[in-house]
Amino acid sequence: MTIKEYIKARKEEIKSEVLKMERKPSLVIVQINEDEASKAYVKGKLKDAAELGINARLVKLPLETTEKELMKVISKLNKDKKVDGFIVQMPLPKQINEENVKLAVAPEKDVDGFHPLSALNPCTPQGIMNYLHHEGVEFLGKNAVVIGRSNIVGKPMAKLLLKESCNVTVLHSKTSKEDMKRYLKNADIVVVAVGRKHLITKEFEFKPSAILVDVGINRDEEGLHGDIEPGMKVALQTPVPGGVGLLTRLALMENLLKINSTK
Ligand code: NAP
Repeated sequence: MTIKEYIKARKEEIKSEVLKMERKPSLVIVQINEDEASKAYVKGKLKDAAELGINARLVKLPLETTEKELMKVISKLNKDKKVDGFIVQMPLPKQINEENVKLAVAPEKDVDGFHPLSALNPCTPQGIMNYLHHEGVEFLGKNAVVIGRSNIVGKPMAKLLLKESCNVTVLHSKTSKEDMKRYLKNADIVVVAVGRKHLITKEFEFKPSAILVDVGINRDEEGLHGDIEPGMKVALQTPVPGGVGLLTRLALMENLLKINSTK
């Protein structure tokens, strides 16, 4: 199933799940930026929520909001019984420390899965795993390579693959191209989360059975591009756009439902 077909089918399932709920799940998105990409993400999340029957609202704060002021908003949302989950849309203005914000969100309301005590996983790696499972991808004993080691994508992705008993290798900016080629040649599952347009080109060799997951979103005058050149000769390559971004959005709604089901 393509990602678009999978999303459509999962949305139908979620919609009927929400319809059966006595009280609709509620989501709040806090945004403190004028970033074009963030605006598009927020719009997408609100659209998904509306489509699924989830109550979602946007709290937009001015760019000059201080960390103390944001903490007050977070503390209020943490206590608000009508709010099941909320996210603070990244990036944040320079005067606010992102790590402090991630730690301030109550773990039981942390739909983004960023808090170290959150029972939920960050949406991008969780969304990817859900899709790969749905596609029947085998993990046990397979060679998985994750390129990128950020706290929101690379590291949690590696952790989830390890949990499935993959042999996981994490590569990063200090990995030589020669080593990267060597690891990728033997990989069964590859997840690239770097943010460099077509970092992985056809110059790299892959197994024909390889699964390539492209997390990268790189914008230029021509539009959106992934970290992997399109059209690799492999079993599965996720597209950009219309790939991991959609899986991430879906996982956010699934995380919200998980919070609701544990109440
Ligand atoms: P990040 O925090 O900037 O991390 C990038 C990682 O890539 C770092 O670990 C860095 O290594 C590594 N890297 C940089 N240059 C490299 C190179 N030449 N070769 C190998 N590794 C290299 O980024 P992020 O937040 O993880 O996001 C990565 C990309 O995914 C971005 O394009 C972002 O927009 C996209 N993204 C998409 C979604 C989605 O839903 N589709 C969600 C989140 C992120 P060092 O640690 O050594 O610096």
